[in-house]
Amino acid sequence: MKTPDAIPASNSASEPARLIVDLAALRHNYSVLTSLAPNARCAAVVKADAYGLDAEPIATVLRDAGCTEFFIATPQEGAALRKALGPAAVIYVLNGFQAGLHAAFAGHGLIPVIGSSDSLRAFHQEGGGAFALHVDTGMNRLGLTVDETLALPAAHKAGLHLVMSHLACSDDPPHPMNARQLARFHDVLKAFPGIPASLANTGGVLLGPDYHFDLVRPGVGLYGINPASQSAEPFRPVLHVDAPILQIRSVPAGDTIGYGARYVAQSERTIAIAGFGYADGLPRAAWQSGTARLGGICVPVAGMVSMDLTAIDITGHEAFARETGRMQFYGEDLGPVAGASGTIGYELLVRLGSRLKREYSGR
Ligand SMILES: *Cc1c(COP(=O)(O)O)cnc(C)c1O
Repeated sequence: MKTPDAIPASNSASEPARLIVDLAALRHNYSVLTSLAPNARCAAVVKADAYGLDAEPIATVLRDAGCTEFFIATPQEGAALRKALGPAAVIYVLNGFQAGLHAAFAGHGLIPVIGSSDSLRAFHQEGGGAFALHVDTGMNRLGLTVDETLALPAAHKAGLHLVMSHLACSDDPPHPMNARQLARFHDVLKAFPGIPASLANTGGVLLGPDYHFDLVRPGVGLYGINPASQSAEPFRPVLHVDAPILQIRSVPAGDTIGYGARYVAQSERTIAIAGFGYADGLPRAAWQSGTARLGGICVPVAGMVSMDLTAIDITGHEAFARETGRMQFYGEDLGPVAGASGTIGYELLVRLGSRLKREYSGR
């Protein structure tokens, strides 16, 4: 057995893994979405800290690119966003209105997206004002039923800014649920002449103009994920992780790599140990068929992902690995790595660990 190489691959191995967010790609994706839905206004969904990428720089760049409407999940997120964006931005709170919170919403100029008759009543009792109505057309998550919506008293429509619903299967364009929800939404809108309407998330934008209405609400497409595909197209990848190669070792045929000795080297392999693991968000399940990049070269994960480390098979590319001392994760591989891990790109984004230093390029 060869002895492990104790010498760091390069000096840059001393710098821990960083998350690099390409703000030029974000702007590009926003303009792709606006040109896909030219007759609608294009809001930005920046909930969950802009899907883990940090809502402040993301929303600021989108505002400067012409976005005026933003969706977040909670009033706490809304208050932080208001501080970042100033008074002009329109900020909607998707998780609804809870009794007692009127002052919290009004104090930061937040518009609740109200999704039940009870909370709508409470909102009006506490003073009312601008709100959006969430109608359930088949998802059974948040939203008044179609019947409840059609029975709303006129007084409860005072302040109504937007009628919206949400698609359950927009990541699967041929799914019959899409057309069914669209038809129900049209039925509901007959009761709201003149009120702006919104149905489409990213997948809905990609379903075409029938789904666009007055306002589209993309989230994940802004961040470079096509929810209906493992490829980013028509979007551009926005983030990648740049991780140090902490060590390069030669593993003889028949040896195993990592926890559980699950990976068996079928021939002699050159293995790079990257400083990026499941504590940083890389799913443990990525070991089976996950990939990383050495410059532009796609290289497979080899062995169980550890908390802080992942072994990558770089056989044939050792010289290049020693020269650069770094490996890249996610980027154009985000969709395939999510699929290989039994999850979706959305989840990989929001799982990005707080230990990763965030760097923003392309300002
Ligand atoms: C999260 C969310 C969106 C954005 O969805 P993407 O699939 O990320 O584009 C839009 N509308 C609602 C109600 C949401 O919860």
